[in-house]
Amino acid sequence: MKLFHHGAHQGVTGSCHQLSWDDGRHSLLVDCGIFQGDEAQKHGGPEIEFPLDGIQSLLLTHVHIDHCGRLPHLMAAGFEQPIYCSPPSAKLLPLVMEDAIRIGFTRSERLIDRFLEAVDALVRPLDYHQWHRIEGDVEIRLRPAGHVLGSTIFEVRLPDGSLVVFSGDLGAGTNPLLNPPTSPPAADLLVLESTYGDRLHPRSDDRQAALESILRKTLQDHGVTIIPAFSLGRTQALLYEMNGIFERLQSEGGQSLLHRVDVLIDSPLASRFTALYDDLQDYWSEEAQHLMKTDDQPLVFENLVKIGDHNEHQDTLNYIARTELPAIVIAGSGMCTGGRVVNYLKRFLDDPRTDIVFCGYQASGTPGQVLQRGAHWLRLDGKKYHVAADVHQLSGYSAHADQADLIEFVDQFESAPKRIRLVHGDYQPKRTLAKKLTEKGYQVDDF
Ligand SMILES: [Zn+2]
Repeated sequence: MKLFHHGAHQGVTGSCHQLSWDDGRHSLLVDCGIFQGDEAQKHGGPEIEFPLDGIQSLLLTHVHIDHCGRLPHLMAAGFEQPIYCSPPSAKLLPLVMEDAIRIGFTRSERLIDRFLEAVDALVRPLDYHQWHRIEGDVEIRLRPAGHVLGSTIFEVRLPDGSLVVFSGDLGAGTNPLLNPPTSPPAADLLVLESTYGDRLHPRSDDRQAALESILRKTLQDHGVTIIPAFSLGRTQALLYEMNGIFERLQSEGGQSLLHRVDVLIDSPLASRFTALYDDLQDYWSEEAQHLMKTDDQPLVFENLVKIGDHNEHQDTLNYIARTELPAIVIAGSGMCTGGRVVNYLKRFLDDPRTDIVFCGYQASGTPGQVLQRGAHWLRLDGKKYHVAADVHQLSGYSAHADQADLIEFVDQFESAPKRIRLVHGDYQPKRTLAKKLTEKGYQVDDF
């Protein structure tokens, strides 16, 4: 058995691994994502440069763009084999693809529809927790990875009986809508992500209380709270938490400050993902399932407003500025590199009553990171804006396992993985994690 990497080996984006066996006559792919940020420059175009001979299937760990975004290019290169993924991923994938194609390829609805039909013909959703026989006499089993709805750990049993486990991206166990990942029993080779291999997340004992105190503070001064969030995953987790906060306040007396504020989701894409999340309640965490016994719509509440087209967006901006009513806005992109959140920043950054709440990782060089570092000025679309707003970081929402979670994931195998290959990490996190694992007696491949 041999493992090749066509991405996310020396970095965190462009995930694409090829597992081959039988002297290279057969192989399968795991993920086919795009390169992002600085890594996109290094890799040239997103075109598929490796031969597809012998590749019999594609396993998709989850629908983040750095794991599935090169799918159009893979199909353009002639790939016509089955794509295996979890049922929620199969449901979320078309919307992710539609958005990616509209941004990167074409706005032609006809071409988008044709591509989505072609993808649909290849996608084979498989249930979690049971073995399935696929092409090449291979068996696979899927386990939830707790990273985003539908995310999957793949166990792959090759014809000679050897077991390869692909962790995909592992959750941190802090998403209220998802169960934390659980380890498979065994692996001859474990292919493990290492994004935060050198870091420990601050432990937030009570995410809801932290969110509530930020909301209370900002609402007391009648300002605008801007929460930059990606449309898939984080937005739904925030809605779920806010629902809990509002429900509790209502039951405690109703006339609270928080109850008189509108929560705006200013992203048609986030609203569409939220509707899909609602349809997939069977795959939510036990905590969320339990809540649904008393509230059958945990992502919807009375004061939630969904903003539609661009005119509505402009009207909303003007309305908030004019009326000076407190408002909470959730809009993308999560790192403020584009999208409607930028318009809110331009309008409200200079107001000391404004609060900006980050709940996710801010990559280097992004406006989000500049704000997070406490800058007094921010450049947006070539123009400088003065920052008078308060900037907060909400911990407890990380989508990725930290060093302790990763080590625990390895430790929890019933019999220790015989070999570990670290992927999906920059050099330093990989090196630190490799050292920790080696000290514990695990065998980690060189990189
Ligand atoms: Zn991911």
